[in-house]
Amino acid sequence: MEEGLIKRMIASIRCGSCGQHYEEAHIDIIEHSEELWFLKVICSSCHVGCLVAAIIREDAKPEVITDLTEAELERFKDLEGVREDDLLDMHKFLKDFDGDFPRLFNQG
Ligand SMILES: [Zn+2]
Repeated sequence: MEEGLIKRMIASIRCGSCGQHYEEAHIDIIEHSEELWFLKVICSSCHVGCLVAAIIREDAKPEVITDLTEAELERFKDLEGVREDDLLDMHKFLKDFDGDFPRLFNQG
């Protein structure tokens, strides 16, 4: 998967704050390993940053996980050995999550 392709894919999603599409110029690839991509995007309209985690497989529909703010991104950067299973868990988790990140992180 080329960086240009993944940026185009991320640019097709919308900012969670204002609904604008992200622009490729404001998408930074933090790291990727095989099917897993972590990207940081900054909305060009409202300047809210967020983390995008994407699972890209050649033979399947890409799965994009968003809705993490810059502060939460810092938390994830400190985590070691994030595996695909972890992301899938996170994806399921975010579907039901009520947005109370402080409570979540204080548990740990
Ligand atoms: Zn925005």
